[in-house]
Amino acid sequence: MATIVCARCGKSAEALDNPPMGGQLGATIQERVCANCYAEWLSQQNLLINHYALNMSDSDDRKKLIEVMKEYLGLVKV
Ligand SMILES: [Zn+2]
Repeated sequence: MATIVCARCGKSAEALDNPPMGGQLGATIQERVCANCYAEWLSQQNLLINHYALNMSDSDDRKKLIEVMKEYLGLVKV
């Protein structure tokens, strides 16, 4: 398993085994966010989806969630 310096927690930590989603963003997350921080995001994401009643089949809602995710993971400059 690869070790990376995480953009969110700043520690050297284990990367995800696989990109968590397709495309450039998935590759960026695998390269820059540790597995622990991504796991934290996943539980945070569920809270947000419930709290804001986001509809993941709605592309505007998906975009909104992606923006929040980048901020949460320290990837806003990507
Ligand atoms: Zn981290």
